[in-house]
Amino acid sequence: MNNKYMAYGLIFLNVLLQIASCFWYRELPGFVWTLANAILILVPLVFGLKMGLLCLLPVAASELLWFFKLGSHGILEDADFLSDETRAKAVEKLDAIGKHILYPDDWSKYSCEELNFPSKEEGGNYQEALEAITRFKLGKAVENYKQPVDKEKWGEAPHVVNGFYDPQTNGIYIMGAFARGALYNSEMSDEELYATIGVIIGHEISHAFDSDGAQYDKNGDLRNWWTEGDYARFRERNEKMIAYYNAMHPWEGQDFYGSIMTGEACADMAGVKVMLKIASGNPDFDYDKFFRTYANVWLTKETLQAVYAGINDSHPLPYLRVNATLQQYQEFLDCYGITEGDGMYLAPEDRVTIW
Ligand SMILES: [Zn+2]
Repeated sequence: MNNKYMAYGLIFLNVLLQIASCFWYRELPGFVWTLANAILILVPLVFGLKMGLLCLLPVAASELLWFFKLGSHGILEDADFLSDETRAKAVEKLDAIGKHILYPDDWSKYSCEELNFPSKEEGGNYQEALEAITRFKLGKAVENYKQPVDKEKWGEAPHVVNGFYDPQTNGIYIMGAFARGALYNSEMSDEELYATIGVIIGHEISHAFDSDGAQYDKNGDLRNWWTEGDYARFRERNEKMIAYYNAMHPWEGQDFYGSIMTGEACADMAGVKVMLKIASGNPDFDYDKFFRTYANVWLTKETLQAVYAGINDSHPLPYLRVNATLQQYQEFLDCYGITEGDGMYLAPEDRVTIW
């Protein structure tokens, strides 16, 4: 049974029992009463907590998503390199982005009953388990290949800590496991909310307009919706961003590969910009709190091997996601009094935000 209805049912039963107790209390043996009441109070409580994630959070997250999407309208309107014609297409695409929050309606697509491998006690090992999972996933992929595209199926399971944008569905996906705890909770101030889930949602929305996403139209089809001139200017901006990351070195003799990073770097910068755009409407906004919370998201401790692997990843290394992103914004420089000659200073003409 659906957890939500089970919890409602138990709460209803509990209320009935409370009413009944007014009449029958004296006839019930004490331990029966205590046991029944404990079960009927505790079980709904446990289910109720689960319901917080299953029922209430999607509503809150969904509202946030549309609020932050409004901010994205702002950055498209501000993009001075776009003609009105392309801007109108971009706004149309933004408006068409589908929201997929926390978990899909149909969980059955994520079941893996056929996935069998022996446990450690039964003589199985980690390698065999990984192979079984890979076989299972490949089998599913082959099976799906023969079917019409199922746009309701998410590209990631809801229990995985992740959020992403899929250009082929023009949809944003925020997984249930991701939007809870340090990156989203109801106790957060506006500054914390903007710096965590806000930037993340802004980041994912921006993927619709990064170097890959920009090639797909509002329906997720690989179709050019740019005027020639606008696309050339967009590419120019991408080239400038590539050169910016190519000029950096995590240590002497080690290069970065700007060309693989522009999609994620563009999305990081746009995510922060969307939040700054929204924040500009609040005269009491605490920028220091916002920037510190954002930096904390990327606070990381890694081995050298992990850093080496990260250099070949499309996501910039965590320290770049903070330093290289924030130095693009005047709000950041003003907040900490950073001026020409300071290490974090970046002159306006050297800034590389695409949006
Ligand atoms: Zn991304």
